[in-house]
Amino acid sequence: MKIIVVGSSHGGYETVRGILAAQPDTEIQWYEKGDFLSFLSCGMQLYLEGVVKDVNKVSYATPADMQAQGVHVFLNSEIAKVQPAQHTVHVVDHATGQERDESYDKLVLSVGAVPFELPVPGHDLQNVYAMRGRDWAMKLKAKTVDPTVKNVVVIGSGYIGIEAAEVFAKAGMHVTIIDLLPRLLSLYLDQEFTDILTKTMTDHGIYPAVGQGIKSFEGQDGHVTKVVTDQGEYPADLVVSAAGIRPATGFLKGVIDLDDHGLIKINDHLQTSEPDIYAVGDATLVPFAPTGKNNRIALATVARRQGRIAAQNLLGGDLPMIPVSGSSALSVFDYHFASTGVKEGTSDKLGVKSASVMVTDTMRPQFVPASAGNTKVYFKLTFDPNDGRVLGAQIMSKADVTANINAISVAIQAKMTVADLAYADFFFQPGFDRPWNIINVAAQKAVASLN
Ligand code: FAD
Repeated sequence: MKIIVVGSSHGGYETVRGILAAQPDTEIQWYEKGDFLSFLSCGMQLYLEGVVKDVNKVSYATPADMQAQGVHVFLNSEIAKVQPAQHTVHVVDHATGQERDESYDKLVLSVGAVPFELPVPGHDLQNVYAMRGRDWAMKLKAKTVDPTVKNVVVIGSGYIGIEAAEVFAKAGMHVTIIDLLPRLLSLYLDQEFTDILTKTMTDHGIYPAVGQGIKSFEGQDGHVTKVVTDQGEYPADLVVSAAGIRPATGFLKGVIDLDDHGLIKINDHLQTSEPDIYAVGDATLVPFAPTGKNNRIALATVARRQGRIAAQNLLGGDLPMIPVSGSSALSVFDYHFASTGVKEGTSDKLGVKSASVMVTDTMRPQFVPASAGNTKVYFKLTFDPNDGRVLGAQIMSKADVTANINAISVAIQAKMTVADLAYADFFFQPGFDRPWNIINVAAQKAVASLN
């Protein structure tokens, strides 16, 4: 069997790994249009802040490693067309200019997404950057030490925008984050959390300009100098645009079924409308566990699970994709937070009725002094007010308590209720937590609210 895998980031890598693990003799051709194999944007902040020194280390695999395992790796090689009737793809080699058709038995698309470019005047000025992939990583890194950069404007306050803002604030620059939505990180956390984080960011030199729409980027001599919104003007020597992503599926229009946003429609076995073509990663729609409906969840965790499952299915397996809850975590200066599933602030948009309880407590018993790390934990549990089914949770603390969110993600997947969690068995040791874990405490409060 000959399998072609397109795209070398999380989804493509996991697919290749899964095929090699199950049937190492399979003929695999792995195509990447960029000049580098398997760059991981997740590691970008660590590289930009100097924790990881070498940009080339932010990767899962090298061509040499993969070739040693029998995989045929093609860099600078774009799949420009897919011809399902012939079972061929059209390859354009950007290094040599040569083009050819290549046949496949099974094709896996992990083409991912590209940063969304705001369609406003001045979007093509110099120093308007994005934050995704190795090329942008290297350009951004140079700006972190560029003495001419004093004012940085970040567009978009999702994870990526917040990471960018923190990088440049730590590099000593004045940072403004502009978002159309009324709160920073509002798709990830409810207001109880974002109020605290916004204050922390402001204390570290990041100015939030929320509830504002971008009108234009203005510049001098071709370089950006300011960002104009419907409410003000912000000086900018550098703009980092993190206002969403767009699936890289233009070449698949009319070939396989896409939704109105260009996302690839797949079944629960990750097959597209052409059964020998599978798709994984940010370019696909995935089942969202709290609602059971398909949703867009652009996370490496999802791409990797899909890659493993696609590998098994295309080799003859019968493994449906598990529904996911969009669990994610981030640190913002001293705080660490994580969230999963539905939030109070997103439930309307998701068409879900929800109720929530909030618990704020110290992490360990009161007798443990703050000097021993006994710090505050903020936890919010969201559930269905009719039957108590767990729909989501958010946690934040100066201590790293983020792993609690994984327990909630499993509870959502298993369709557990707050009553199931109220007395669930969690460990206690005063060096770590309290006799009633914060999940128990919140679930007990939720149960009481339902009675
Ligand atoms: P992509 O990563 O988009 O990769 C697609 C690859 O396919 C690219 O290399 C592209 O060049 C190639 N390609 C596209 N079209 C073609 C073609 N026609 N022919 C050949 N090659 C092609 N997720 C987490 O879970 N945790 C995190 O901490 C996290 N942090 C992130 C931080 C940043 C700054 C960013 C940008 C993303 C982060 N993510 C994180 C999200 C995660 O990186 C993505 O979900 C993941 O990369 C998706 O993988 P993918 O394989 O779908 O596609």
